[in-house]
Amino acid sequence: MNSKTAKSKFATTDCVRARGQQYEMNRRNTPVGMCGRSPKGCTGAVRLLTVIVLVALSSIEIASAQDAQNAKEALLLVGARVMDPGNERLLDGRDVLIVDGRIVEVSGSAAANAPQGARRLDLAGLTLIPGLIDLHTHLLLHPYDEASWNDQVLRESLELRTIRATAAARATLEAGFTTIRDLGTEGAGFADVALRDATEQGIVAGPRIIAVTRALVATGCYGPSGFDPRWDVPIGAQVADGVDGVRRAVRQQIAAGADWIKVYADYRRRPADPATPTFSQAELDAIVDEARSAGLQVAAHATTDAAIRRAVHAGVATIEHGTDASDDVLALMRSNGVVLCPTLAASEAMARYSGWTKGDPDHPRITSAKAMFKRALASRVTIACGSDAGVFAHGDNVRELELMVEYGMSAGQALRSATSLAAKVLGREKDLGKLEAGFLADLVAIKGDPLSDPSALRDVVVVIKGGSIAIDRR
Ligand SMILES: [Zn+2]
Repeated sequence: MNSKTAKSKFATTDCVRARGQQYEMNRRNTPVGMCGRSPKGCTGAVRLLTVIVLVALSSIEIASAQDAQNAKEALLLVGARVMDPGNERLLDGRDVLIVDGRIVEVSGSAAANAPQGARRLDLAGLTLIPGLIDLHTHLLLHPYDEASWNDQVLRESLELRTIRATAAARATLEAGFTTIRDLGTEGAGFADVALRDATEQGIVAGPRIIAVTRALVATGCYGPSGFDPRWDVPIGAQVADGVDGVRRAVRQQIAAGADWIKVYADYRRRPADPATPTFSQAELDAIVDEARSAGLQVAAHATTDAAIRRAVHAGVATIEHGTDASDDVLALMRSNGVVLCPTLAASEAMARYSGWTKGDPDHPRITSAKAMFKRALASRVTIACGSDAGVFAHGDNVRELELMVEYGMSAGQALRSATSLAAKVLGREKDLGKLEAGFLADLVAIKGDPLSDPSALRDVVVVIKGGSIAIDRR
């Protein structure tokens, strides 16, 4: 509403109402209030106060209108090389117009079409790409060389873990990752849902968070483990068994705020034992069926060939890790449209924690990760960026893309695995992962060319999330 409308509005009915309110205020406050005299005897004073109130009210109205205007503020990004909608090449001479959090135009004439008063951001010399997406993080974990996983689950308070996770969320956003699928709180209950909501409400800075809450494990198939069986040790996920039991657990997690369901399809039964399948085919089928009934997808932790096969047959959307996937099972994943998140950065971090340093001969974990990735590339299964950040430092998520390229993927394909392709996995291919009109304005300005070198993604200069400038280091 402009000031003219506000004035005419106050000149009629609201004026009368305001006078009445002022009279009421005076009457109630008579002993200590603004005017101790009777209404009749202080007409002049009431008029003066009325004017003051009206001026104050009209300026509140104008301020509210201004706020509404700011919320819909247009943002014009000029001077950057811009990623094309296919995330395949960089285009010169394109400006990007953002209105109300969405990209409305990417063209040479966007500047001319910008509404008057649009904020202009000069990104000359920078490369503008869609915000990055990591499909496998744990905001509630921090690197295992700082504290072992067991100690984090058993000794750290939920409060400390949650507060630390807010810093992890900020670090993730600062690294240009504007969306994450956070795959389990690892004993921290439903803290991911609270963090997701706090981020959405602008209480803390962070990416868009797709939450899975506690994750599902079968009895005796997760950690902390290796204790005397007399002790009832807390487990880092929700234990559920049997078709009815897993259905109930899925329902509980969805009711508590889960956006996806995460299941551990295999795990070691005792410390140092090799992983074996955990849930039966019937249990996995029930988990996926129950999740789908609520419109949710399922991600399966699976490293063994047998568990991956079961999970694919059950209908999960993604396989996490996939370490020992055979050519047969990779072909099965491909024909079923199941996506692989290889978590190469986590394997490298675990090798480091056991004493390996870069330049040493490959640690067995790295040998195994490289071999798996080579088989996966050859199988042409869809590979998406899922780093397992939390095992290593939040904000270092780009390590996954660097390793993908080091292990044989093109830089362009690696970038797509963390943008358009990851958005498709999330069912958000219509509004995330592309720099195109109609998409949410989640954008990152970097130095260098990520289509030739993934490490260029480490030079983050500006991060925009939903049309708001989150980071500006120009
Ligand atoms: Zn993980």
